[in-house]
Amino acid sequence: MQQRRHPRPKHLRWARALPRVTPFYAVKCNNSISVVRTLASLGCGFDCASKAEIQQIESLGVAPSRIIYANPCKQASQIKYASAHGVQKMTFDSEVELLKVARCHENAKLVLRIATDDSNSVCPLSVKFGATLKGCRGLLQRAKELSLDVIGVSFHVGSMCRDPATYTQAISDARFVFDMAEEFGYKMSLLDIGGGFPGSEDVKLKFEEITAIINPALDKYFPADGGVRIIAEPGRYYVASAYTLAVNIIAKKVIVKEQSPSNEEEDHETNEKTMMYYVNDGVYGSFNCILYDHAECLPILHAINYL
Ligand SMILES: *Cc1c(COP(=O)(O)O)cnc(C)c1O
Repeated sequence: MQQRRHPRPKHLRWARALPRVTPFYAVKCNNSISVVRTLASLGCGFDCASKAEIQQIESLGVAPSRIIYANPCKQASQIKYASAHGVQKMTFDSEVELLKVARCHENAKLVLRIATDDSNSVCPLSVKFGATLKGCRGLLQRAKELSLDVIGVSFHVGSMCRDPATYTQAISDARFVFDMAEEFGYKMSLLDIGGGFPGSEDVKLKFEEITAIINPALDKYFPADGGVRIIAEPGRYYVASAYTLAVNIIAKKVIVKEQSPSNEEEDHETNEKTMMYYVNDGVYGSFNCILYDHAECLPILHAINYL
């Protein structure tokens, strides 16, 4: 990977477009040391999905209060690690997770992840994570019985969201859950609006077009004087335009497509020739983004070295 542009200008753009929202960078997106170090120095928080990611961010000297363990299905041993290292904020969306946290963490500050309507996103995530609004009541009640502290609500609209109304609906749903939580004696103080923001400009819906919809929704449902801190978990937004994948062409072959027998009398020169190039990366490596993240790769030939 070659670094092209620093995430720093992206951070300034974020602060302009979403002044009320503190970004917690989703480390799983790209954990290159120069990226996480830059974002740490700019005051970003971090969304970590595993013990290894927590360890990396800790090693930069980032305080555990600037980390959210935003994986709703965590390994028990890794919850214990978070507990021992002062990482308190963590998401959940099921009863089993509550039981694990009650058993493995001294004083977790839980964030209830709700499902969103992500049918308009390139990569929907709510199939895998997120409680339904109906399910939230039972989870809040169970959390109360277990004497667990639930401090807020999170959601993820799916990566590369193409319909900003999804954010409005999710923010309004979050308000609903905040009010529901009050019935159980919880005074929630954290709203996490997740990721899903585009990282490049060649998209249907630009970053500022999304934030122009989010800001009024936040002001309506979570007014600035309401005592609720708002964070987000942008991943691609920070790094998609910062890196270019460089691969080498390591072999090539000319493939001649045989013409059908009926055309046999025609000149051999008309046979279709295709060049096949072999590169030193593949779908088991960097290109798994094509299989799993709907990435589109545009090859650019950079330099030619004849053998
Ligand atoms: C992947 C992920 C993100 C980042 O998603 P982007 O669409 O790249 O912004 C944020 N939060 C969670 C929980 C994730 O799994």
